Amino acid sequence: MAQAMEKTRSSSAGDKDSDLQTLFYDTLKDIYFAEKHILKALPKMAKAAQASELTEAFETHMEQTEGQVARLEQVFDIIGKAARGKTCDAIIGILDEGKEVMDEYKGSDALDAGLLAAAQAVEHYEISRYGTLKAWAMKLGYNDAAKLLDETLAEEKETDVLLTKIAKSAVNDEGMTKTGKNK
Ligand code: FE
Ligand code: FE
Ligand code: FE
Repeated sequence: MAQAMEKTRSSSAGDKDSDLQTLFYDTLKDIYFAEKHILKALPKMAKAAQASELTEAFETHMEQTEGQVARLEQVFDIIGKAARGKTCDAIIGILDEGKEVMDEYKGSDALDAGLLAAAQAVEHYEISRYGTLKAWAMKLGYNDAAKLLDETLAEEKETDVLLTKIAKSAVNDEGMTKTGKNK
């Protein structure tokens, strides 16, 4: 009796692990799709930005994003699965909002603030995904994959910090000056 229960428990633990494996692969496909979409959006955001600091930040992150796509391909390789994307409705929605801001605030002093907000929403989505993927990779014993995911996680966090810094300096200096000029 006790033995049978033990067996049930261990086999259900095994199932859980293979489910987590599937979830890990599915979520990798989600962020792979997202990164590729971000890669297409970043040049448009760089072009739209008014402050050169913000344009530079977007351009730098575009280069990083290319490396992040390559890292994800390495992770797919490590788990022996094909690198494929799976529609991520969240990133489509976040990027659509960014596009809306670009269209509606074209020529406005508030455009950069809107772009910064949109970009930070993207980074926060990525930070949540990479944090989760790293934890799952470790749980599944993919230590090399966890290391790669952590490298990208660090870049996304750095980008978020940089965007916050730009937003603060824009609000405190440029934004104030421009408001004064307009009045
Ligand atoms: Fe990214
Ligand atoms: Fe998603
Ligand atoms: Fe990013």
